[in-house]
Amino acid sequence: MFLENTTKQSIGGGWIEVICGSMFSGKTEELIRRLRRAKIARQRVEIFKPAIDTRYDKEAVVSHDETSIKSTPVQAASQIILLANDVDVVGIDEAQFFDDELSNVCNLLANDGIRVIVAGLDMDFRGKPFGPIPSLMSSAEYVTKVHAICMECGSLAHYSHRFVESESLVLLGETDRYVPLCRKCFLKKKKVK
Ligand code: ZN
Repeated sequence: MFLENTTKQSIGGGWIEVICGSMFSGKTEELIRRLRRAKIARQRVEIFKPAIDTRYDKEAVVSHDETSIKSTPVQAASQIILLANDVDVVGIDEAQFFDDELSNVCNLLANDGIRVIVAGLDMDFRGKPFGPIPSLMSSAEYVTKVHAICMECGSLAHYSHRFVESESLVLLGETDRYVPLCRKCFLKKKKVK
């Protein structure tokens, strides 16, 4: 388990935490767990998510087990800088859908003394690095990779296999469109196609 530092930071004393993994791996649950604890430590917390993610409640970061924290949907990563006023901790969910500016934004916030916690998919449905996540993983102080369970064999899964026909990178959906698979089972599915 990730044991966080919840002491308040000064200028230059912030940092970046990345929580990444496949779909159904518990990324949002882990983000919410860390943010809740920051709130208990009386820190000011702001949460942002891309406006593209319209599943569930528009105003809340909602995880699959329905624990939720209110959040602000934003159109572009650069808006986060303008909206993150007087905060100690910034949480960002579904970060893979943000533009490439996100890494820069997170570094500016951390340089300003803010603890930034980013959760997102590290790979798209083809198994390729997803959006700004690879670059965020490079500049983060802490990276936590969480795993789902392979629905074919029960091993640890780190691929999000899409079983409906579409080449679009962004196709929102849950169990009706994606299934977590391990490397072996993911390769098997690819060969069948
Ligand atoms: Zn498997």
